[in-house]
Amino acid sequence: MYIDGAWRPAAGTGAIAVVDPADERVIAQVPAGTAEDVDAAVRAARAALPGWAATPPAERAAHLTALRDALAARQDEIAATVTAELGAPPPVAHAVHAGMPVVVAGSFAELAATYPFEERTGNSTVLLEPVGVVGAITPWNYPLHQVVAKVAPALAAGCTVVLKPAEDTPLTARLFAEAAHEAGLPAGVFNLVTGTGPVAGQALAEHGGVDMVSFTGSTAVGRRIGALAGAAVKRVALELGGKSANVILPGADLARAVGVGVANVMANSGQTCSAWTRMLVHRDSYDEAVALAAEAVATYVPGERVGPLVNAGQRERVRGYIERGIAEGARLVAGGPDAPLPAGYYVRPTVFADVTPEMAIAQEEIFGPVVSILRYEDEEDALRIANGTVYGLAGAVWAADDATAVAFARRMDTGQVDINGGRFNPLAPFGGYKQSGVGRELGAHGLAEYLQTKSLQF
Ligand code: NAD
Repeated sequence: MYIDGAWRPAAGTGAIAVVDPADERVIAQVPAGTAEDVDAAVRAARAALPGWAATPPAERAAHLTALRDALAARQDEIAATVTAELGAPPPVAHAVHAGMPVVVAGSFAELAATYPFEERTGNSTVLLEPVGVVGAITPWNYPLHQVVAKVAPALAAGCTVVLKPAEDTPLTARLFAEAAHEAGLPAGVFNLVTGTGPVAGQALAEHGGVDMVSFTGSTAVGRRIGALAGAAVKRVALELGGKSANVILPGADLARAVGVGVANVMANSGQTCSAWTRMLVHRDSYDEAVALAAEAVATYVPGERVGPLVNAGQRERVRGYIERGIAEGARLVAGGPDAPLPAGYYVRPTVFADVTPEMAIAQEEIFGPVVSILRYEDEEDALRIANGTVYGLAGAVWAADDATAVAFARRMDTGQVDINGGRFNPLAPFGGYKQSGVGRELGAHGLAEYLQTKSLQF
């Protein structure tokens, strides 16, 4: 456990085995923290809060710049660790898992220095003050990004943090704690407790000394955490699941839209909450799009370009959805439920055609390398299908020109839409409509989640 600026043993003796999903071998053990460890971490964070909250934003920015630099200096080690505990192919581990958090940490270093923490309106001065102690609970799918997307804005806002990372990927979180230590954060400003969700995660979510819980993970656990926060009347941010639509309108560059769409799902073996897992194609282009998708997915060879799933449970879940798609009458055009390799939690990259909106593979989050291609008749039909799930996290629209795509995107019930292949922007707010969540991450909106507002009239 990293508590109050130092590494210390856990209160109990329990351990969590970390497994390499590419070969199913145990690569490490980390302590399974208990409520006692969580309590020690929350106390340290509370003690550090007044000093950190009063630290001038420019100084907090300097610490975040140092944190970014510490993460940048460790990129090779971070990438190797993400490959070992998540199974991400090395190029993906380097570019995405190790690279993106450096950019995000840098963006919050800049925002800490420039954010308007104080404004004058009429005869009032409005103060934006830190919410307090933040309990951050993160998933395994982007082991470092998910941590940085919570911790960096919380620190920029003047909050102190206790992090409980996912059971499957605690080693990357430990590297983050080492980087935070190197960055010279005052003791107690950032704390790490490894452990299971039901024990350490639950203890953190329930702790009376935590002012806000920021959670990313499954909708089922998110609901519980939301209910706990509601009962305690404390701030909560929830980043949950998705079933995002990749809408290809007539006149779009079909080959590009299908190619980028398939790549978007295959990245991280489909374990991306914002993945465009439903491809919506006009009936006139449908057969061509299906052929292009089958061709594209064939280039994702398991063990080479596409990694395994994170654990055996996820693999069984994804295989179950592939079997369900077949049973529901969707047409399998690539992949299938059979294991592609003798060892490792691999699943065949899979494409389903003739998927209809009510099928489970068109409604439920699969979290694996599975693309469902749906046919639409006209734009209104496409919009109905796109908006026809309980989720609303992300999406894409492709059209002959940006204006047409933007007009469609304005009508989508979703938090983020990429227009004709728009690129990642670390300042663009990210988060869900509907059951995809509450609150936003990244950019100024992401920082604002960790602030509370006070007004002084004079
Ligand atoms: P999960 O909800 O089981 O776990 C997420 C985190 O919550 C882990 O740290 C876990 O230990 C903890 N946790 C589990 N039970 C808890 C409890 N009772 N109290 C407190 N904490 C608890 O999800 P997962 O299996 O790690 O991730 C897969 C799911 O997460 C997918 O459904 C995916 O959509 C979702 N996800 C969403 C986003 C997003 O940004 N919206 C990102 C990644 C993953």
